[in-house]
Amino acid sequence: MVNLNTTVFCKLRIIKWNQYALRLERVNMDKLLKMENLERHYETPAGVVKALDGVTFEILEGERVILLGPSGSGKTTLLNCLSALDSPTGGSYSFLDAQVPRNNSEKMTSFRRENIGYVFQFFNLLQDLTVLENILLIQELSGNKDPQRAKELLKLVGLDAEINRFPGEISGGQQQRVAIARSIAKRPTLLLGDELTGNLDTETSNKVMEALVSACMQENITSVFVTHDEGLVKYATRVIRIDSGKIVSDQSINSNSFK
Ligand code: ADP
Ligand code: MG
Repeated sequence: MVNLNTTVFCKLRIIKWNQYALRLERVNMDKLLKMENLERHYETPAGVVKALDGVTFEILEGERVILLGPSGSGKTTLLNCLSALDSPTGGSYSFLDAQVPRNNSEKMTSFRRENIGYVFQFFNLLQDLTVLENILLIQELSGNKDPQRAKELLKLVGLDAEINRFPGEISGGQQQRVAIARSIAKRPTLLLGDELTGNLDTETSNKVMEALVSACMQENITSVFVTHDEGLVKYATRVIRIDSGKIVSDQSINSNSFK
């Protein structure tokens, strides 16, 4: 969607087309969302906790943001505000130039349904359904059952051989890749994940992140992933560091550097 009031950034991105050739793709970088001086304060008996204390940033379409910070720095709170699971107590938040609803669970739920995908740390797959059925169920719930696309998504995350297995019959890393395919099945505009590789060893984390990056690039999905693992920075196009509810650095990095 091109908005004439916003600056449109363009860049060329190199895509691996097949094993022999690279392809150049023109990418429009429209503004997707903007938070300005966002606050999430909690009133507690011991005083006010400033979980978010004046956070300001914009995210452009197609960016892959990694949000890094120590425990208790406000990462989960920020993700919950981004997805409208939680309501900020101050500041503004707009998404595709519309104010994001707050303090209204019905409107917040429809905002999430229309725009947000989420990858959980503990996969949350239905154990009695096969890998393919887990994806078909999500498609069905969003009124869009499409077995062909479900199979393509599973292929995209490298699981074409496992589609008829049950979650208990595949590894943790493979389960997380099913969860990724499931989270992008409804083509979310913004994909979020909180410590989504937190349960996986380094090698498996890398495989999961590679699947995630190629899925996001192919589907043109913007993403924000929270982690405390510096090793995941290589998968991002941008790294935002947060501490005590404030952004302490915001850095663009060379994308595709993991390839
Ligand atoms: P992180 O995900 O970076 O570990 P959180 O966003 O969970 O951090 O928490 C940020 C701060 O907000 C912490 O100090 C935490 O204790 C506080 N906090 C989070 N939720 C609540 C709550 N419901 N009530 C009071 N304080 C909270
Ligand atoms: Mg957290």
